Amino acid sequence: MSFSLLSAAASGEGATPAWAMLAYLVAGVFFILALRGLSSPATSRAGNRNGMIGMAIAVVTTLIMHGTNLVEIGIAIAIGAILGVTIARRIAMTAMPELVAGFHSLVGLAAVVVGLAAWLNPAAFGITDAAGQINAVSRVELGLGIAIGAITFSGSVIAFLKLSGRMSGSPIMLPGRHVINLGTLAAILVLIGLYTVSPEGGAGEGWMVIAVTALAFAIGFLLIIPIGGADMPVVVSMLNSYSGWAAAAMGFTLGNSAMIITGALVGSSGAILSYIMCRAMNRSFISVIAGGFGAAPEAGGAGAREQRPYKQGSAEDAAYMLEQAESVIIIPGYGMAVAQAQHALREMGDKLREKGVSVKYAIHPVAGRMPGHMNVLLAEASVPYDEVFELEDINSEFAQADVAFIIGANDVVNPAAKTDKSSPIYGMPVFDVDKAKQVFFIKRSMGGVGYAGVDNDVFYMNQTVMLLADAKKMVEEIVKSLD
Ligand code: NDP
Repeated sequence: MSFSLLSAAASGEGATPAWAMLAYLVAGVFFILALRGLSSPATSRAGNRNGMIGMAIAVVTTLIMHGTNLVEIGIAIAIGAILGVTIARRIAMTAMPELVAGFHSLVGLAAVVVGLAAWLNPAAFGITDAAGQINAVSRVELGLGIAIGAITFSGSVIAFLKLSGRMSGSPIMLPGRHVINLGTLAAILVLIGLYTVSPEGGAGEGWMVIAVTALAFAIGFLLIIPIGGADMPVVVSMLNSYSGWAAAAMGFTLGNSAMIITGALVGSSGAILSYIMCRAMNRSFISVIAGGFGAAPEAGGAGAREQRPYKQGSAEDAAYMLEQAESVIIIPGYGMAVAQAQHALREMGDKLREKGVSVKYAIHPVAGRMPGHMNVLLAEASVPYDEVFELEDINSEFAQADVAFIIGANDVVNPAAKTDKSSPIYGMPVFDVDKAKQVFFIKRSMGGVGYAGVDNDVFYMNQTVMLLADAKKMVEEIVKSLD
């Protein structure tokens, strides 16, 4: 949601004409409708369209209001649009979190640049008092906007590097990091306070703004390096929230109501999403921010795994059992995304339905590596929305299901989350696949573990048959056997 700052760069007068206020309000309504639409896969296209309409209204209003050089702006928009379309077309679905992180870094940088521009040329931004100096309230807003923007920038760059594998995903723990981080945050706040009360145009003023910017860039870096790669999606959503607050702070400085509305929407929706993700992973927000998850093998984790007997089957075995079943519940997870098995999976579902089997897809809120990961992939493969169910809507049906078909999921079906208090996933709501009559479990090897790195009792259950192969290959073979 990087739209909030785009309309800001050219904006800057306190007195916005009534027609423009109205246009901004309409844009704000479209942004709210966009968020509403994005809350369900069935309405997400309409949501996206509403967001684009709102953005177009905000940009055009700003351009008309400020009589900007349309040729220059047009060239800038064209370059941005070409880059955006090219990147969006090329990016793989599994790389979406790193793309979002990369784009957020630009939102943060935009907030810093707008803030510094307002500081260097306050008259053009309409934030001066009678004496021609920046007024005190605008100083607070500027300081906060620049600081949050800089934290968003450097934090998002680290998140991008970790998620794209250009930097190790494991947490980097500096000694005394909590003291360093709290000290740096305190220094930033003190400097913003001093800047606010410093004599107008005082000698130290420039240094204070530069120091706030530099320290905020540093703290973004320091806050994110101790956070493990797998916690990054929560961090990306948190940084998304920060970028919204940075935009809202700048909106106050610039007297731009569109920025205040969109900044608040982005800020609060990002915060809510971070909270939902933490809750679904049974992690506290503080423990994610404090970092270190995944630093050492957990008790009962990969290192401590014992050899236990399990049953292994073939695609033909699975096809035979699936055909015989009356009801099949498919649970996709991260491995389906890695293997890009969603199209083959839909084909399998269709074939089974033709044979009179009831097929449902069960999606856990944190399956995969980003919110809605599985919904997006299944929608891409044209799985009808009415066959896709959320955890709380389908969990009670496992007890009656003939087959639970697990494809590349692991943590989200691990009963240790219900029974083992020492497990790192204890407390996370999971699918009750252990209650199904028969379980098929697709993964590549018995050695691989999921995100939390813990063994899974489902592998060794009496009714479980392990299908050890790449998810796409295995499902394609099952489809062939169903012919
Ligand atoms: P997991 O990460 O628990 O398990 C993935 C499974 O996929 C493994 O068993 C792996 O085993 C298998 N796999 C990997 N590649 C392939 C392949 N090509 N073919 C077949 N199998 C494959 O995934 P879940 O979706 O169950 O759980 C998600 C986890 O991620 C949760 O712990 C959640 O908390 C966490 N998380 C989720 C976020 C989100 O927003 N969705 C955000 C942050 C974390 P093998 O290697 O043997 O193949």
